Amino acid sequence: MALSRRKMLKKAAAAGGVAAAGGGLIMAPQVAVGQAPAQLTGTQAGRKFKAFVRHGTGASVEELKLLAIQPREVLVRTQASAVCYTIVGGALATTPVQQASIPNHSGMGVVEAVGPLVKRVQVGDRVVVPGTPQCGVCYQCLHGRADWCQFLDTAPAHPMAEMSDGTKITEQASLGGLSEIMVVPEEYCCPVFTDLPAEQLTLLGDTVGTGLAAGRDLVQIEPGWNVVVQGAGPVGMGAIQAARLQNAGQVIVIEPIKARREIAMKVGGTIALDPNAEGNGLVTKIRTLSKGITDRRFAGGRLTTNAVPDGADFVINAVGSDWFPPKAEVGPDPTAILPLQQCFEFTRAGGHIVMLGVAWRGNVSFNAAQFSNRGRTFYSGQQGGLNMLRDIPRYVKLIEKGVIDMKSMVTKTYSIEQTREAIQAVGDRTVLGAVITFV
Ligand SMILES: [Zn+2]
Ligand SMILES: [Zn+2]
Repeated sequence: MALSRRKMLKKAAAAGGVAAAGGGLIMAPQVAVGQAPAQLTGTQAGRKFKAFVRHGTGASVEELKLLAIQPREVLVRTQASAVCYTIVGGALATTPVQQASIPNHSGMGVVEAVGPLVKRVQVGDRVVVPGTPQCGVCYQCLHGRADWCQFLDTAPAHPMAEMSDGTKITEQASLGGLSEIMVVPEEYCCPVFTDLPAEQLTLLGDTVGTGLAAGRDLVQIEPGWNVVVQGAGPVGMGAIQAARLQNAGQVIVIEPIKARREIAMKVGGTIALDPNAEGNGLVTKIRTLSKGITDRRFAGGRLTTNAVPDGADFVINAVGSDWFPPKAEVGPDPTAILPLQQCFEFTRAGGHIVMLGVAWRGNVSFNAAQFSNRGRTFYSGQQGGLNMLRDIPRYVKLIEKGVIDMKSMVTKTYSIEQTREAIQAVGDRTVLGAVITFV
């Protein structure tokens, strides 16, 4: 009788003496050398640390006392956390909050303690903690959409510390960041083995990492493509660099803030347009730029009377609405609906659109026939479709090689005491990358 492949493997293992007492096992489950062991190093409960806390009707830097960490949690001594535009409104609001919490949703640092069930990291590891977890076993992770990992829905929101008056403190999005300590489920940890500066690495966990992912994970930019990036904030800057990495033909940047247009040109943009200066001519301008220098589409071709619109191969929308009056140049539409409408108009039939903005309000409408029949594809994703355990180590290598310019993304660093100033600057749009760094 023919043996199945599995039985043959079993027999071979038994003959070689590999199978231990179990006899039928191919190999006993064991921790490989170098793999992070589950170890209990103490919960460090009672430890004092500083954090920026949103509580009552305001926010302030407070000294907190750490509570015990849970079996599957990781205690990270924060080295850096970049302020995200999306948290500005909540962090600086004066409306009363029921639950005191540490704002933000990314950071990086060094693991100082792990719960007894933690396997992914070990004490001493440097880790990037992105806003999106990756459990590896949920429906979305198993279907290639780790950016929609369902662990996000069940991640614990229990208090990790308390104030001197006993007020319990949670972390926004299960991880916070504007704090000397983060306590996070291991599903949020991506170990990185590098000496790169913390203020650069932390940007991989949120804004710049999102833009980088958008150029490859949802739509893979083909060499020579005309790529349009709307919005050159930290997310857009990642997208511009992704387009450069993928050898895009043109990288057309649309950004109202002059200082950002200049950085965009430095990191990969081939032309940077001011939407205020272009006004109603912007769509025509993009189509003309995408067409190139001749109307002849191919050798011997003739101009067509078919009204197939010209346009870019790929448009990445990374526009954050002007929810706070900027102290820098204002965009043409504070709701950012206009750029969303325009990204459809910019894109050629059969082209691709990725939307990275969040917190939209209002509605957008498209020509039905164009929407239905012109073959444009739309994608949106958490963090640009980031597959963090696969992508972040890859980006680390590319930063080390100098291919990704992360240094230009960090335009100002702040101490924990200056957190409010940093958040305000992000809301004002007077800095590109505002990073809190910790000693
Ligand atoms: Zn963010
Ligand atoms: Zn998952």
